[in-house]
Amino acid sequence: MISEQKQSHRKRSHGFPAFLDLYGKSVILVGGGAKAAGKYRRLAACGAKVTIIAEQLSDELHQRTEGEQVVHENRKHREDDFQVGSLVIVATESSADNTAIAQTAHEAGVWVNVANQPELSNFLIPSLVDRSPLLVAISSGGVSPVLARLLTSRIDAFLPHTYSDLGRLAENYRDKIKQHVGDWRQRRRFWERLLNGRIGELILQGRFKSAEQAMDAALTEHSENPHSGEVYLVGAGPGDPDLLSFRALRLMQQCDVVLFDRLVSEPIMQLVNSEAERVYVGKRRNDHAVPQESINALLVKHAKQGKRVLRLKGGDPFIFGRGGEEIETLAEEGVSFQVVPGVTAAAGCASYAGIPLTHRDHAQACIFVTGHLKDGTVNLDWPALARPHQTVVIYMGLVGLPVICEQLIKHGLPSDHPIALVAEGTRQSQQVLTGTLETLPETIKSQAIKPPTLIIVGNVVSLREKLAWFETRE
Ligand code: SAH
Repeated sequence: MISEQKQSHRKRSHGFPAFLDLYGKSVILVGGGAKAAGKYRRLAACGAKVTIIAEQLSDELHQRTEGEQVVHENRKHREDDFQVGSLVIVATESSADNTAIAQTAHEAGVWVNVANQPELSNFLIPSLVDRSPLLVAISSGGVSPVLARLLTSRIDAFLPHTYSDLGRLAENYRDKIKQHVGDWRQRRRFWERLLNGRIGELILQGRFKSAEQAMDAALTEHSENPHSGEVYLVGAGPGDPDLLSFRALRLMQQCDVVLFDRLVSEPIMQLVNSEAERVYVGKRRNDHAVPQESINALLVKHAKQGKRVLRLKGGDPFIFGRGGEEIETLAEEGVSFQVVPGVTAAAGCASYAGIPLTHRDHAQACIFVTGHLKDGTVNLDWPALARPHQTVVIYMGLVGLPVICEQLIKHGLPSDHPIALVAEGTRQSQQVLTGTLETLPETIKSQAIKPPTLIIVGNVVSLREKLAWFETRE
């Protein structure tokens, strides 16, 4: 038996996925029954040189291995069968035998997989959707092979077999396209357009001749007119990745480089093409890590190198986001761009806090302002903000909150006028504090509040008591 220590040692991560090139490589398969036959099938498909160690071969294995490059050792396994570094698959019909063989294999320091016994294995064999050369491998990390197979059959049903043809087309044209399109980024974009567009569609329909003609035409066109870069100015919303738009997500996944700042939440960054270069251009209050002019210049520089540049901004790029300034520079420099709106913090925080920004009984208008402190004061049109029947949303107002409340009271709002502070709105860590113009500045003194924060002033805040719905993680 494997000792307890070894068992717990073999507790592992969910796995590092990799595809091994076993062509012409030696693999030892222990077992001669139905299970071993299944493993043999996959090994043979990879061109591995298989040595089967088994006292008896099933009829299926006999037939399969006939005339193949297989060595059959007609005996029980021995301790000296396993050399360090070899790949061993144990698939006898007896789990007691499997355990004993796995023990020997582990002692010999080899890579070993035991059929249906992930706890004895140091590598797992995933379920497979085979659209060679495309392979979709699915693993549950040994936790639930049934679930992995279920998912495999769903993907199998959903993925047309013609994806194999698409893969083969890519294989056949690889060298040719490499010659025509020298720059790897442009090449990737070229492929994306081909496979996503009409050519991909033709192949999936089985119209190979037309696809090849279209492919040659695309290559000629590219040589005459190579593509230049583009900037995607994308609003990432306030934090919850579910609030991204489809267009935002699509562009995030096809960019070559991303310029992002602190407001973009980590779960959203995880959705950006993992191969894209990441450039942090974060800004903190009163501390512009990268000055705006440099950001503008960076966007132009990357785009002129032919890259697809993602400028990812928190909320909406056109609301207190300097998005306008950035694309002004692009327009002046003749760089093409597109703008994708995002859910602005006011909309996101209001929804997730259960505070409707307008309401027929409470507010007929809604104003967005920034509450940035300058020289210790907040410079706003106070008489306009202190009018009744409206909601005022204040971005960047945490530090100026006492001044804001004081000025609003001074310009005519009652001191018991409702106000809310939403910190980390729409995220699992969202925190909402409510009070009045008089009480909230005191309340926040005793609280640990994490940025970013948004302030909502107006009678609509009182609706939260009834309408709060979003539950944060406990
Ligand atoms: N373009 C952004 C705003 C950028 S200004 C938008 O449309 O939302 C930065 C300010 O936005 C922060 O200081 C804060 O006031 C507000 N903000 C952004 N995300 C927020 C969030 N998740 N929760 C609360 N406030 C947020």
